[in-house]
Amino acid sequence: MKIRLATVWLGGCAGCHMSFLDLDEFLLDLAGVVDLVYSPVVDVKHYPENVDLCLIEGAVCNEDNLEILHQVRARTKVLVSFGDCAVTGNVPAMRNQFGLGNAENVLQRAYIESAQNNPAVPKADGIVPQLLANVRPVHELVHVEYFLPGCPPPAARIKALVAQLLAGAVPQPEAADLKFG
Ligand code: SF4
Repeated sequence: MKIRLATVWLGGCAGCHMSFLDLDEFLLDLAGVVDLVYSPVVDVKHYPENVDLCLIEGAVCNEDNLEILHQVRARTKVLVSFGDCAVTGNVPAMRNQFGLGNAENVLQRAYIESAQNNPAVPKADGIVPQLLANVRPVHELVHVEYFLPGCPPPAARIKALVAQLLAGAVPQPEAADLKFG
């Protein structure tokens, strides 16, 4: 049976996913042993149940990120914090220094003070998600099994993880020989 693989894009620039695509022809080998059940690169709208392994890119920046993160955790056996934004907050977390616990300072600066025309903070319920007070790395909110740092993680390092799948099993956290990053 194929391993059910997902990749998720939270608050990141998609560079980590670009690095994943840098696996090039190795992706063809991967296609033989996994079902890619959810990802920005496939047209699936809802995160499915019973996912074996998920790479999650990006920091947790807004209410939508938080909601999907909890859904991903509940439906995934092995979760990998994928890239520096997921691991540390990285670039998205730079806004924290402009007012920890308060996203309003950033919104005011970006949309009111810096606006040349029509200053207004964008608000549209159900369309524009509310910013969280602070940007946070994934592991501060849910348990993760592995950290795969890098901005982005090099394809070779991603391949080291994927190779475990090609070996025939989803890596288990207690396996001492599994070190990614
Ligand atoms: S870790 Fe770097 S490449 Fe990955 S989403 Fe963040 S900024 Fe982009």
